[in-house]
Amino acid sequence: MSALLEVRHVTKKFGGLIANNDISFDVKENEILSVIGPNGAGKSTLFKMISSFLPTTSGEVRYKGERISNLKPHVVARKGIVRTFQETTIFKSMTVRESIVVAQHLRAKASLAGYFWGSKTAHEDVESFGNYADDLIDFLGMAEIANEQASNLPQGNLRALGIAIGLATDPKVLLLDEPFAGMNHEETMRMVDLIRKVRDERGVTVLLVEHDMPAVMKISDRIVVLNFGEKIAEGTPLEIQNDERVIEAYLGSADDEIGM
Ligand code: ADP
Ligand code: MG
Repeated sequence: MSALLEVRHVTKKFGGLIANNDISFDVKENEILSVIGPNGAGKSTLFKMISSFLPTTSGEVRYKGERISNLKPHVVARKGIVRTFQETTIFKSMTVRESIVVAQHLRAKASLAGYFWGSKTAHEDVESFGNYADDLIDFLGMAEIANEQASNLPQGNLRALGIAIGLATDPKVLLLDEPFAGMNHEETMRMVDLIRKVRDERGVTVLLVEHDMPAVMKISDRIVVLNFGEKIAEGTPLEIQNDERVIEAYLGSADDEIGM
C-alpha cells in the first residue's frame, strides 16, 4: 500500500516554542492511524498543519503526492481532507438533519446567488443534500434524533453529529481530535465501532488524536507517539505498548495515564 498522506519534516514554532520538531510519517489509504502523547506534546498543532488551519514553519504535508500544507483550509477540505474540532462547533439552533444539510454546502455545485434566485441547480442541490443527509443519518444510526435540536443532545450524540458533519462533504481523510473526550466507556466503545464502520464501509482514511489508551489500542492500525514536539515512536498498538520511550514519556507526565 502506498502512502495517501506524507508528513515530511514538519516543524512548527510559536515564537521560541517548538510545538512540532521535524515530524515525518506516512498515512496509508484506508488505515486508522492515531497520534498520541501527553498534554502539550503537539498533537493538535500537527492536525492543524495537516488540514492547513496553520502554516508549517518548515517541512510539508503531501496528499497523493501533492503538497497540501500552507494552502487555504477550505482548499484542503475540498480535496477531501476534513478535520472535526476538539471544541464542538455545531450549529446549535439547528436540528441534526439541518446541520448535515448545511454542512454539504461546502461541496455545493450551485453558486450562492443561485440559492437566492432559486435556480434549477440550487433546487437539485437542496434535494440531493436532503437525500444524502438521510443516507448519512441512517448509516450513523441517528434516525431517532434526526429532528432533535443540536443544543438538546447529550455529549455522545453531539460527537456523533460532529462526525456526521465531517462526513457530509464525503471526505477521503477524516481528522478527529479527541473523539472520545468526555465520554464514558460505553459511549466510547460505540464511537469506536462507528469510526471503524466509517473506514470499512465508506473507505475513509482516519487520523485521530486521543487520550483514551484502551480505545486507541483497540481502534488503531498504527500509532505515532509525540512527546515535547518530537516523534518518539511509531508502530502497531502492540509495538507501542512495549516501547521503552513511550512508557517513560507517559510515566514521566503528571496529568496523563497510559491506562493499559
Ligand atoms: P496537544 O494537542 O498535544 O495537547 P498542542 O498542539 O495543542 O498540544 O500544543 C503544543 C504546544 O504548543 C503547547 O505548548 C501549546 O501551549 C503550544 N501552542 C499551541 N497552539 C499555540 C498557539 N496558537 N500559540 C502559541 N503556542 C501554542
Ligand atoms: Mg490537543
